[in-house]
Amino acid sequence: MHLQVLSSGSGGNCTLVRAGEVNLLIDAGLTLKELELRFEAARFCARNIHHIALTHGHLDHARSSGSLAKRTGAILHLCERLMRNKSVEQAPKMETLRIGTATPLPHPELPPTGDPLELCATLIPHDAVPTVAFRLEHKGRRAVYLTDMGEPAPAIAGALRDPHLLVLEFNHDPEMLRKGPYPINLKKRVAGRGGHLSNDQGAEVLGHLAGPNLHTLILAHLSLKNNTRQLAVDAAEAKLAELGLEGVEVIVADQDQVGRNIEV
Ligand SMILES: [Zn+2]
Ligand SMILES: [Zn+2]
Repeated sequence: MHLQVLSSGSGGNCTLVRAGEVNLLIDAGLTLKELELRFEAARFCARNIHHIALTHGHLDHARSSGSLAKRTGAILHLCERLMRNKSVEQAPKMETLRIGTATPLPHPELPPTGDPLELCATLIPHDAVPTVAFRLEHKGRRAVYLTDMGEPAPAIAGALRDPHLLVLEFNHDPEMLRKGPYPINLKKRVAGRGGHLSNDQGAEVLGHLAGPNLHTLILAHLSLKNNTRQLAVDAAEAKLAELGLEGVEVIVADQDQVGRNIEV
């Protein structure tokens, strides 16, 4: 299984997962035109998307999910309460995410294999309810994708612990947010229990999820105004050192360009 972040941040989120013959997109928060450019940069043909999984209904995640599903014929997997959202209404095929249940994602035309890509959703606190994090499993390898979380919730660790690759939100530095340009209401929202993980909170969640299998940590959904890559990396590396996991590679996901295609 390979995972490649195509875009990450409040300007739009999208991540490509390729597992055997099956291709999954997590979120489609850019415009269709911008998504096309990212697919091109990733040397991937959009026609080959078989499944799209939606974390939540905010536009920076859901924007083109319906139109892309229509264009590609992909099945859109989402929580039932999002099925009437405007951004998904064009999707020809929808399936309800079953929280806490690993669901195989088959290739639409090939016979099922003994080792399918499995998707499992877990509810996390955020002000678009419901919002989920994903665990992906293929041939014994695990990836976890978790962004847009208002506060650390140790209870999620059961479902998401010890992935080989972890994509985790490190959104903001509280001091930069406090002094920064956002209006007061937005500052409160971002820092609040329905907002986003600060660097320290991201590190705390890392402590809940990281185990001996972790080889790559991708810091995601960084705020362009209220964070720096260095602050996020410092917080992550300090926690990894505390956990005795210094060998883990730390990567920062970009808003404006596609990341490396990483083997999970
Ligand atoms: Zn977001
Ligand atoms: Zn959100």
